[in-house]
Amino acid sequence: MDQRSDGGAAAPVRPSGVSRRGAGLREVVWGADGFWGRRQAVNAAATFAHCADWMERLGWLENFDRVARGDVTDERAGWEFADSEVYKLLEGIAWELGRRDDARLAAAYGSLVARVVAAQDEDGYLGTAFGHPGLPPRYSDLSMGHELYNMGHLMQAAVARLRTFGEDALVAAARRAAEHVCREFAPGAREGICGHPEIELGLAELGRATGERRYLDQARVFVERRGRGTLPVRPLLSDEYFQDDVPVREATVLRGHAVRALYLAAGAVDVAVETGDRELLAALEGQWATTVERRTYITGGMGSRHQDEGFGEDWELPPDRAYCETCAGIGSVMLSWRLLLASGEVRYADLMERTLYNVVAAAADQGGTHFFYANPLHVRVAGAEHAGEGVNHRAEGGVRAQWFDVSCCPTNVARTFAALHTYAAMVEDDVLTLLLYSPGSVDLALPSGRMRLEVATRYPDDGRIEVSVVEAPREPVALRLRVPAWSHAAAVTDVSGTRTEAAPGWWEARRTWAAGDVVVLDLDLDPRIVWPDPRIDAMRGTVAVERGPLVLCLESTDLPAGVALEDVRIDATGAPRAAGDGAVIAATRRREPAVAPAAPPFASRRPTDPASGASFDLPLVPYHRWGERAPSQMRVMLPAVWEVASPR
Ligand SMILES: [Zn+2]
Repeated sequence: MDQRSDGGAAAPVRPSGVSRRGAGLREVVWGADGFWGRRQAVNAAATFAHCADWMERLGWLENFDRVARGDVTDERAGWEFADSEVYKLLEGIAWELGRRDDARLAAAYGSLVARVVAAQDEDGYLGTAFGHPGLPPRYSDLSMGHELYNMGHLMQAAVARLRTFGEDALVAAARRAAEHVCREFAPGAREGICGHPEIELGLAELGRATGERRYLDQARVFVERRGRGTLPVRPLLSDEYFQDDVPVREATVLRGHAVRALYLAAGAVDVAVETGDRELLAALEGQWATTVERRTYITGGMGSRHQDEGFGEDWELPPDRAYCETCAGIGSVMLSWRLLLASGEVRYADLMERTLYNVVAAAADQGGTHFFYANPLHVRVAGAEHAGEGVNHRAEGGVRAQWFDVSCCPTNVARTFAALHTYAAMVEDDVLTLLLYSPGSVDLALPSGRMRLEVATRYPDDGRIEVSVVEAPREPVALRLRVPAWSHAAAVTDVSGTRTEAAPGWWEARRTWAAGDVVVLDLDLDPRIVWPDPRIDAMRGTVAVERGPLVLCLESTDLPAGVALEDVRIDATGAPRAAGDGAVIAATRRREPAVAPAAPPFASRRPTDPASGASFDLPLVPYHRWGERAPSQMRVMLPAVWEVASPR
């Protein structure tokens, strides 16, 4: 018997007051030969087990057993937020089981859930770091204790299970936890908020999935309560770090700890959409726009500062100190997806694609067992080969590691990849929109009937995307294709064989479709030079090279013998040429330094830079696979020469 509660249409984020929805887990199937389908297959085959093994080995799972047995002590393993990694893994597995049947994975899910729910208190509280003999009291450290954050992730995992399967022990535990939170943090009761937003997302989505309005109301309470300076602030931190400096609806830009800011904004969009709060939604759209304009890297990465894992000021985007935490990239995708469903605006899908290819895809290696935590745009010293056995305490981003002391990113990647294909298409009434291009099939129920498509493409290695109709309703349907913002020479060949230019945005054709109809979108994947805004001081004098949705980078692995990474200058007047999945661009080498090596790096006369010497071909590779061949130096922003002096 099929117990799936939502047919194949289940997916993360199902706003109830909006006519737009993303594809369901079984409505889009990506082939394992495509860029994203391959990542999903690896995620299922390797990443879930990898995460579970590490959490078993480190005692993060046993934390639940110890609470259940009553023998927990302050010797407990892991940070206060270790519980959330188990919940994110459960969420990922639940989406995966919604995508396809897998008896072994289902068994693993069942045994993990049994251990989690055994640790729940009578009154619904669930947590292994507080509130039991030998541990600090419940909610005694709202700033950094992560108790509500953890339970928010429990709720998101339960939403995945409820939508794909139905009621089970995990869903029941999440309902009890939500009841506990609603009682404990009701207006007039404990008037606190969690230092790390997430409970807002968890309650809002659980409210949608269960129909319990009170959960959504409590999410709204948490959103409105924030920004009033109520969280105790430790030395070196600030109200801004916690987004407790300005109320959400008054803020104009994302600030403070990037993941916190993005999760809060995503949860606030859920609240705004469900309550019809247009003012709040408009504030969040404005925050997104300003943040993307002034505080976002070319990769889509967010977070300029390592010190507090935070956003910098406007235009503070140093390539070498870019933090760009993997979880911030995922948070950005979560936020953009919600704003896309709320508004239908293509700019949100464009940023999602940029961030998915250049942050999320970069974060995990091709084998699905090594991860970046930080995703800087410039690494000056090649990372040491990681020994592989121990936990990586550094999160600098030189070499992908199997696991981290703070290991939020691997499980976040796992749950994102499991449901990633639900972002590939969007339905609104009789409009079917394709958003992300990877080979596979689409099978969606429209009001007038079923629409089945086959998508054939080698994107992003090739720009041709062929969409074939397999089955269509008898009524007219609008088929829309996203033409990315970076695209300069896109063309669509329609059913009649007529080829026309397609401007960035939505290409749309409304007709009564028939099996065998074919539409082809051709995207121009010639590599292109991209200049940063002159207000980004740390990037002045440099350019980047992009190809389709991919940001390219220079790796020291590809440098000619004797050329140092910091001495390369590229010819920004020339045109890069496609090569493999990357590009080749003409480059020169900086002249020998005019000052003695021991001199200070400043001089009162103009240096001999820019470059001289024979030009050579410089290979650039997609940023998402940098560091995979060997530890290397790397840079995305390349010092450029735009006027080469004519030889005399
Ligand atoms: Zn993380």
